[in-house]
Order: sequence, then structure tokens, then C-alpha cells
Amino acid sequence: MLAGCGGDGSATTSGASTATASSDPSAGSTGSTGSASATTQSSVGTSGTSSTTTGGTTAAGSETDPTTGETTGPSELEPAVDIGDTNREVWIFMQSHLHTTGYHACANSPLDPGPLPEGACYSADGITAFLQEALDNDASDMIITDHNNVDAWFDPAFAPLPSQDKSRYATPLRGTEWSSRGGHMTLLFPNELVSDNDAALDAGYIFAEGNKGDVDNDGVYGEVIDTVHAADGVAIINHPELAIHVFPEDAMHADAVEVGIPPNPLDDIEGGSISAHSSAEARRFWQRRLFMGDRIAGTAGADHHHGGGDIPGLEAPTFGTAVNLIRVDTSLADSDVMEALSDPSGTIDRRTAIVMDAVRRGHVMIVEDVDAARVYLGADTDSDGRFHDARAGDCILPEEIDADEFRVRVRIDNPSPGFGSNHYNFEVWDETDDADPRWYVEVDYDAGFPADPNYEVDPDDPFAIELTLDYEPQETNFIRIVLVHDSLGPINDTDVVTNPIYYGDWGAECDTASPLY
Ligand SMILES: [Zn+2]
Ligand SMILES: [Zn+2]
Repeated sequence: MLAGCGGDGSATTSGASTATASSDPSAGSTGSTGSASATTQSSVGTSGTSSTTTGGTTAAGSETDPTTGETTGPSELEPAVDIGDTNREVWIFMQSHLHTTGYHACANSPLDPGPLPEGACYSADGITAFLQEALDNDASDMIITDHNNVDAWFDPAFAPLPSQDKSRYATPLRGTEWSSRGGHMTLLFPNELVSDNDAALDAGYIFAEGNKGDVDNDGVYGEVIDTVHAADGVAIINHPELAIHVFPEDAMHADAVEVGIPPNPLDDIEGGSISAHSSAEARRFWQRRLFMGDRIAGTAGADHHHGGGDIPGLEAPTFGTAVNLIRVDTSLADSDVMEALSDPSGTIDRRTAIVMDAVRRGHVMIVEDVDAARVYLGADTDSDGRFHDARAGDCILPEEIDADEFRVRVRIDNPSPGFGSNHYNFEVWDETDDADPRWYVEVDYDAGFPADPNYEVDPDDPFAIELTLDYEPQETNFIRIVLVHDSLGPINDTDVVTNPIYYGDWGAECDTASPLY
């Protein structure tokens, strides 16, 4: 029997889940000088003001507050709203892997890049351009990742930029792309850890041998990641299967791997300007890691090189493609616009904490562009008809479930027809195969899911299904969804990639997992 909590008619909601900083419920509710604990209290209470909630799935024996959508029972924290309810959940548009210059001299020779303009390690113009594009696209956070360099962090332009009416702002986050002839990694730091680029080199955040330098042995990657983790930073494996920069066949305890990436002119093995090669290969790399028992988040990386520089085409993946929608923990401290502008460095720190938290928890949805569909995934482990017990990125640990099976709900929001096809391919990936999905069905852009023995279609929402999975406490199982266009889209054939729900015995791999309820 279907729980029926999908019947709120929100399947056609367009773009509402790309909440900007201004519409983030926590943004306007945090006092400018509030302590972290006070902020937690004030912001949590503001996020549940849905007036459209049907509340049809109230847990037995509890009441639903019509204003907040929450039950009064002390033991039930799950809201009585559907997964992906944009009045309750805060998802923001975060763009990762952005180069403020297209020149590679500094990437190749970080210790001696030579004269300008080819020797530019970053450009202030590039920083500002990304922030302006962020505002134009309702994005909030930009991870700036110049190759083997952090000079951009210290430029006056590296600061939150407000919209013209000052109703919202976009923030650059302090990253770098550790770049060798082999693998590349996005390193993101919790604060301004170093005072200049030389200090970043000394700390090991930059590969001194440069983008054409060989890595002595694969252990080097793990050492860099350990160094970043010791500094409370995050490490993301970039484009792991790019033809000219291949990462070792190992997760190396990195926090994430780029699986949503635009085509790269240096990887154009198909001879055309649009190739799905990089993205598809990256997703295969990720599946092999998951198959091996590594809990590693999937993320999107734009790899946009501002200005194009010395490699034509690197500017091509324009801003707004290969997008991370990250689900924000609204208890984390945030800034309102005026505070954000008055304390740039503190704002960057706060926004970084929000982004890092989401990446570590795997609370990331990868979409091809901001207009793409959304795919929400949730599990009901206590049979109360609510599917927030574990969401994409979360783990269901043996001590958290007392049953030999559980229910999973998947809901597609904002299905977007196009590209000469009438359907998506909806792929379900799990631990049973390291190269292919477990099963897939064709989801019609108008009619939704077909009847299929793998699931039951929600009678109130043809774009939502529920299925039953066996729970095996000794195994390392997972389920994740990929929504694929039947034909090549503007970037690649993939519209949406969710992170997995992990279940069974993942041990320490689940240490950084944490559901919101
Ligand atoms: Zn790279
Ligand atoms: Zn790059």
C-alpha cells in the first residue's frame, strides 16, 4: 500500500528548489551577532511554514500541527511533508571547480609561472565574473579552484557580491585545484588557513611540480587528502577519467568525486564539441568505488576556465551547467546580506561550513543545469509512512532499523521534456554490479512512471514510486538514481544524479553521514 504522502501536486514546481541565499530560511533569521547556538534555535523554527502540506501521513497516534507540519509526539522528528518539499527543505545552487583564468603557465610551473598575461595565476576579473554569473543564475556559492594556486583568496574581489537591490549575495569559497600530470583534486578549506601562496605550497595544498609533473606514487594523493582533512578541509577527486589526467583506481578516502562534469576539449575523443565521455566515465569510476564499499559522495564540477586562455573551448561550459544542488542544514550559522557584506571573511567561513557539511553528508543532487528535473530519494525505516529517515547521502545503520525490509520513495519533480524524445531513462543503481544499473524504466515526460513489478506508482503522483528493499545487516548495500535523457542533451545525456542511500554494515565509512531527522 502506498503511503500517499506525495499527493501535494507539486510535481511541476519549477526552479523553487534553487533557493538563493535570500530565500534561505536561515538567512534572514540569524541575528548579526548571534552565537552559533542561538542561531541554531532561531533558524530551525523558521523552516517549516508550509501552507500547502496535505499532512496525510501523520504517524499513528500523533497530531500534525497545521502551521508547522510537524507532529507533537516527542519521538517523531520527521516532518509530515513529502520528500523534496521546498517549503521545508532548503536546497541551494552551488557551483564547484571554477578557474578565474584560462592560462596554464601557473598551473604547469607554480613556482615560476613567467610573465603576464600567460603567467597569471588568477584574475580578479574572473572572480567578479563568476560572482555576477552566480547572481544571474540564482546561485549562492562558488568554489574557486585555480590550478596549484590560492592567490585569488587575497584579492579584494574575493568577497561576497550583492545583487543590485542587495536582496541576496553570492560568495566565493577558498579552494584550489591540486593539479598533476596524473590526478586533479578540488581542495576546499574551512578558512583562510594560509597567509599567501608560498605558505599554501609549504602546507602541501599545491603540487609544486605542477600540472605536467608526475606523481611519484599513488600514495601522494592520499597524503594530500590526509593533510586537507587534518586542516578540516574537504577533498574532491576531479574528472577522474579525463583522458589526459587520470586518477588512480582508488577513492583514497576523498570526500567526493566529480560525476557531473561538462565535456572537456582535451577529452574530445569523439571528435565533436559535445561528448558524454568524461561524465559517463566519471560515473563509472564512482560506481566502482561504491561497489568496493567506499562511501564517497558524487558532486558536479563545472571546470569553467574564465576567459578561455591558452586552450580554446575551456571557457565553453558556461556557468550554470553541471550544478550541485546541496541540501542545507538550516541549523548552521548563516549571514544576512548586510552582515555578509560587512564581514567578507567571516561570511566566506560560514558559507564554506554549510557547503562542506552538505558534501561530507552526501546531501548533494547533481543536475545538468538549473532547469533540469529534480529527483528526491528517501527511505522509511520505521514504517510511519514518512520517507525522511534516510535521504540521499545518508546511511541506514543496523542499530537504526529493526526489520528485514524497508520502503524507499523516489519522486521526480519538474520533469522537463526535450531533445526529441518523449521519455527519460530512469536508472536504479545498487551494489550488485560495478558497471551497469540494476534496472531501468522509461518515464514519460507527461504520463510519468509506467507500471512495473519493481515498484508501485503513487496513485496521486505519477512521477513518484515506492519500492521495498531487503535489509541485510551484514552487507554493504546502496541504492541511487540516475535520470538519463534518451538523447544527448546540451551537456551530456544525464539530467540528474542522486547520491546513494547506504544501508547495512558500512562501518567507519558512515562516520560522516548524518540524516537531518
Ligand atoms: Zn582538472
Ligand atoms: Zn579544472
